[in-house]
Amino acid sequence: MNQKHRRFQGSLMGVRIGDTLGMPWESMSHESILEATGPLGITTFWNPQQRNDAPPWTQGLKSLNPGDYTDDWQMTRAGVKSYIHCSGFDLHHLALSYLEEMELSRLGWGGTTLAGMERVKNWMSEGHSNLPVSLLSHQLDTGSGNGVVMRIAPMALMNYRLYLEKRHRFSGIPTPLQHVIWEVGGLTHPDPRATIGAFAVASLIAKIVSFDNVVTDQKTLLCLLDGTLQEVLFMEENKCRTFFSQIQAERFSSRLAQISQAIISGISADEVRTQFGTSSVTLESAAFSIATFLRHPTDFKAALKEAVEAGGDTDTNAAIVGSLVGANVGLHGIPKEWAAFREDFAEAERLGVSLWTTCQRIHQPHRR
Ligand SMILES: [Mg+2]
Repeated sequence: MNQKHRRFQGSLMGVRIGDTLGMPWESMSHESILEATGPLGITTFWNPQQRNDAPPWTQGLKSLNPGDYTDDWQMTRAGVKSYIHCSGFDLHHLALSYLEEMELSRLGWGGTTLAGMERVKNWMSEGHSNLPVSLLSHQLDTGSGNGVVMRIAPMALMNYRLYLEKRHRFSGIPTPLQHVIWEVGGLTHPDPRATIGAFAVASLIAKIVSFDNVVTDQKTLLCLLDGTLQEVLFMEENKCRTFFSQIQAERFSSRLAQISQAIISGISADEVRTQFGTSSVTLESAAFSIATFLRHPTDFKAALKEAVEAGGDTDTNAAIVGSLVGANVGLHGIPKEWAAFREDFAEAERLGVSLWTTCQRIHQPHRR
């Protein structure tokens, strides 16, 4: 086994840790988080801190303990298990895996995801074996939350080979990953920006994993980002041209261009938070997370600390940042005191190896 399996483990552990690290602070502001933690900020896993006057949907989180996880890890784990079970991508089985997790717990699940999964559940309960196109249709301005990007790491990892060739990393040539993410997003989120933001993160994870070593050079990372911007422009033009011609500034491609400029000019943590926003809307959440990753591409702790301390959708933002930095530094680059905080964190390590083995088997069919 070569060292690339560590990147699979790192990306999945990044989601697990990010979800858990951010869960206690979901919906809180930057200021109120630092008021509670003191000047050291986030250094470990806390009890849920939401107050009684926090939004009603966060009140259920109070039943959780330090180290517990929510929807971000649940849905990512479901994706991994489905790939392993099917030895590849199978949308119908993936939907069943998500439904299984939804029955286990709905703590932290977003309204759009829940509504989408209920539609799928009803359809399947009628005995249909294939998901109809009508369930996967995209519409304007409905469901633009980050429920797609939070669960996208398995699809990215399983498709890293698409970017082994340099010209695919940097040029923006469309790849089959676009189609996979389009289907995964359409399952629950009608607004194409939720899917396209998720694609941007998936593209970056897959590209990073395609390298043999940790990518430390900012210039290389910005070139990867530029390639992803070209891919996103292609999706916007080809998947929903009419829609995107109406909302130039609200396209995800506009956010990616802004991130590139911001990183070149040395943007601070405070500026990332205020310029891109930290809410659960994908245009904010995915952009904030990519920018935070690019500020700390090799420092897992600094990146996740910053993601949570920014406030807003802390668990999902930190999970996305974790999936990116973890893919870059690998499992060994994640602080032991976080990765081994509780015994059940090892699930991410085990699934990372199984997913890697599945990926290898698919691409070497002559071997068992
Ligand atoms: Mg969550």
